[in-house]
Amino acid sequence: MRRIGIILALFFATISYAEVYTPEEVPNPKSQGQEYYVSNPDGILSDSTVNWVNGCAARLEQETEVELCVVMLESIGEEDAFDFAYELFQRWGIGKKGKNTGVLILFAGESHDLRIMTGTGIEGVLTDGICSKIMYEEMFPSFREGDYDMGICLGVLAIYDVCTDGETPEELQAVRSVTNRGRYGEEEDEEWFGWSVTERVMIGGAILFVLGLFVLGWIESIKRCPKCHKRKGHEIHRETLEYATYDYDGKARVTYKCKNCGHEFTLEERIPKLVHESRSSGSSRGGGRWSSGGGGSWGGGSTSGGGAGGKW
Ligand SMILES: [Zn+2]
Repeated sequence: MRRIGIILALFFATISYAEVYTPEEVPNPKSQGQEYYVSNPDGILSDSTVNWVNGCAARLEQETEVELCVVMLESIGEEDAFDFAYELFQRWGIGKKGKNTGVLILFAGESHDLRIMTGTGIEGVLTDGICSKIMYEEMFPSFREGDYDMGICLGVLAIYDVCTDGETPEELQAVRSVTNRGRYGEEEDEEWFGWSVTERVMIGGAILFVLGLFVLGWIESIKRCPKCHKRKGHEIHRETLEYATYDYDGKARVTYKCKNCGHEFTLEERIPKLVHESRSSGSSRGGGRWSSGGGGSWGGGSTSGGGAGGKW
């Protein structure tokens, strides 16, 4: 009962208080770290969608230097969506400096405004016409059904497709095949443990990914026998020679026994150095920058206001 009370209280607190943002007030996702691309202060998108978009955008940046930023706001008040997006874009400097490869998706729920704004360096690829098509054909149909998660996922995918010239990885495309099933076939409509179709695909993908890692790890742990050359050497003993630190790899001596011929052999193996909780990896040059805890930044790009806008 108490929990229901809290949920109701939160619910009423939410509906009675739609914060109106100005461009200065929008929380910059980069303040959380370099691997964040989504500003979702009103919780319009589900956590799983935010994670998915962050993953997509990180991958897109690595492959194409395009910096994709998604901003989801309940309200921008009376402000014009173009002006708002333009100011936010310049203020944050989305896109690589000098290359201007930024893309901003601005969503304002109350006024039903959507704006895709492109940096000058990407305008030639992600043309105004293409942006408009992406909005009206990929995003608005889901928005009109109230499925903002799906609309954003489809829009991000479409942008990914255009920027990589159709080279979007299969596992990202999974989201799209499910919408088609949802839209044209009726049977997929029911809820399953209260999860939406999108969430199911994401969770399914995550489970497959983790399983894949386990299988890879398991295969990796079986060594080829130097005597009979069959891949049948299973670990029977492991001794740490040097412990890994944050700065240096460690070393272990591992004894394997071949299940085929019974031969025992030892190998010296590297123990990867320890990694701090937040992802950290060396260089701070170019596309591969990851923050070591809090505080990243956009690349410093600018826009001349290219892209498209509309209302769903
Ligand atoms: Zn053997």
